[in-house]
Amino acid sequence: MIRQFVRFYSQKVAIVGSGPAGFYTALRLLKDPSQKINVDIFEKLPVPYGLSRFGVAPDHPEVKECQTRFEEVAHDKRFNFYGNVDIGKDVSIEMLKDNYNAVIFAYGCSEDNKLNIKGADHKGVISSRQFVGWYNGVFDLQDLNPPLEKARRVVIIGNGNVALDLTRVLLGPVDPLWKSTDITAKAISKLKESKVEHVTIVGRRGLLQSAFTNKELKELIDMHSIGVGFKGVSEDHIAPFAPLAKNLGRVQKRRLDLLTKYFQKVKNSTKTACTKEWELQYLLSPKEIIAKDDQLLSKVVFEHNVLVQPDIDVPVSIEPTGEFTELPADLLIYSTGYKGSAIQGLIEAGIPFNEKKGYIPNKDGRVSPGIYASGWIRRGATGAIASTMMDAFFVAETVLSDLDNSSTEKHGLGHYISKQNKPVVTWQDWEKIQQHESEAGTSLGKTREKLTTIDQVLELIK
Ligand SMILES: Cc1cc2nc3c(=O)[nH]c(=O)nc-3n(C[C@H](O)[C@H](O)[C@H](O)COP(=O)(O)OP(=O)(O)OC[C@H]3O[C@@H](n4cnc5c(N)ncnc54)[C@H](O)[C@@H]3O)c2cc1C
Repeated sequence: MIRQFVRFYSQKVAIVGSGPAGFYTALRLLKDPSQKINVDIFEKLPVPYGLSRFGVAPDHPEVKECQTRFEEVAHDKRFNFYGNVDIGKDVSIEMLKDNYNAVIFAYGCSEDNKLNIKGADHKGVISSRQFVGWYNGVFDLQDLNPPLEKARRVVIIGNGNVALDLTRVLLGPVDPLWKSTDITAKAISKLKESKVEHVTIVGRRGLLQSAFTNKELKELIDMHSIGVGFKGVSEDHIAPFAPLAKNLGRVQKRRLDLLTKYFQKVKNSTKTACTKEWELQYLLSPKEIIAKDDQLLSKVVFEHNVLVQPDIDVPVSIEPTGEFTELPADLLIYSTGYKGSAIQGLIEAGIPFNEKKGYIPNKDGRVSPGIYASGWIRRGATGAIASTMMDAFFVAETVLSDLDNSSTEKHGLGHYISKQNKPVVTWQDWEKIQQHESEAGTSLGKTREKLTTIDQVLELIK
C-alpha cells in the first residue's frame, strides 16, 4: 500500500526488545515512504537478536541469516540501538510513553512453562530454556553445569522441534557435528565428556499430534549414518493409522512414511553400528520424578492416556487411564514451551497482561493508544522466525496507520540514556563485539566464540 499521507514531524517509535520481532517491526516501519519514522530499539542484554542468537540450534546457521537483514536495518540513519538497557528497570515505561509517539513491546517470552509434579524441584530436572541457553551462551545460565559426565539416559518431556534440537545436541558426536559451531567452548568440552547414550522423547498425545516438523524428524533419523540410531516408536502407535493412510493429511502421511521407511531400512541392514539411540514415546503424562542421589534421577513415573475422538478429522483430546508406567532417567529435560511475563512497571503503567497465558492482550497489535505488542509477547511463545516476521510486519502496518493521525512532536530518550551511569551498548559497540567473537571463533576453528559474561562484553567496549 502506498501511503499518500505527508508527515510533518519525525515520529519517534520505541521498540522494547531486539529479537526477530523487534527488528522486523523496525524494518517495516523504516520502509514507510514518508521517511520520517525514527526507531529506537532498547535491548536488556548487551547483545542483540534475542532467540536468533540464544535459541536457534547451532547446527542451523541458515536460520540466523535473518541477522544480515537486521544489520541492514541497523545501518539506517533513522535507527538507534541501545543495548544493556532494561526497560522497566533502567528506563520506566512511563518515560517511554512520554517521549515516543509509539511504544512497541517485542520483548519475547523468557520464562518456562513449569513442570508441576512431585520431584520437579530436583537438580536433575532442567527446562529446555535453561539447557538451550547454557550451550548457546546465555549470560545468566553459564553456571548450569548439567551433569552430562554422569548421565546415561535422558527423558525429554514434550516433542516439539526444540526437543529434537536437544536430542541432536545430547547424542550427536561433537566431532564432526558441534566442534565448529557457535556452541560455547565450555559447553563443547562438557559435551565431549558426556556419557549420554539414550534419549526418550515423550508426548502426552499421539503420534499424529507430534509437535515436531517432518524436516527436523528426518534430520534426526538421518543421524543413523553417524552412529545415532532411532530405536523407534512402538508399533501400537503406528499400526492403527496404516489402514487410514490414504485419508491422512500430507504432513501426517509424510510422517508415517518417514518412520515406516526407517524401520524397513534398519530391518534390512545386516548390522547397525549405532552406539547411541533415541526413541519416541506417546500417550504418557509425567506424574512423579524419583531421585537417585543429589545430582541424578532414577526414574520418571507416567500415567497412560488414551485419545478421545481419535477420528482424524476431529481435534483429539486425551484422557488419563489410571494405568502407570516408569521410564528410567538420569536427567529430565522438560521442553513444554516458553512463557511470557510482565516486565517491571508494565501493569502499573496500565498495560494489560494475561498472566495465565503469558502475553499482552491486543487487537491487531494495538494494546492501548500509542502502545503495541509484536512477536511472541503478542501471541504467546509460538511460531518460527518466518511467522514472527509476518506478525511484525502486520503490527508495523497497524502502527503506521495510527501514526498517520498523530501530530505531536516527540524527541525520544537518546539524550537521557547517554547521560546515565550504566554503560549503553551502541550498534558500533556491537560491531566490535561481533568482530571479536568471530576472530575468537576463527582461532578455535569455529564460526564464532561467544562472550559469555556481561563483564567481558562491557570490558571489550570500554
Ligand atoms: C530453543 C528455540 C529454538 C528455535 N529455533 C528456531 C529455528 O530453528 N527456526 C526458526 O525459524 N525459529 C526458531 N525458534 C523460534 C524463534 O526463535 C522465535 O520465533 C523468535 O525468536 C521470536 O522473536 P521475538 O522477538 O518475539 O522474541 P525473542 O527472540 O525472545 O526476543 C526478545 C528480546 O527482547 C529482549 N528483552 C526482554 N526483556 C526486555 C526488557 N525488559 N527490556 C529490553 N529488552 C528486553 C530479550 O533480551 C530479547 O533479546 C526457536 C525458538 C526457541 C525457543
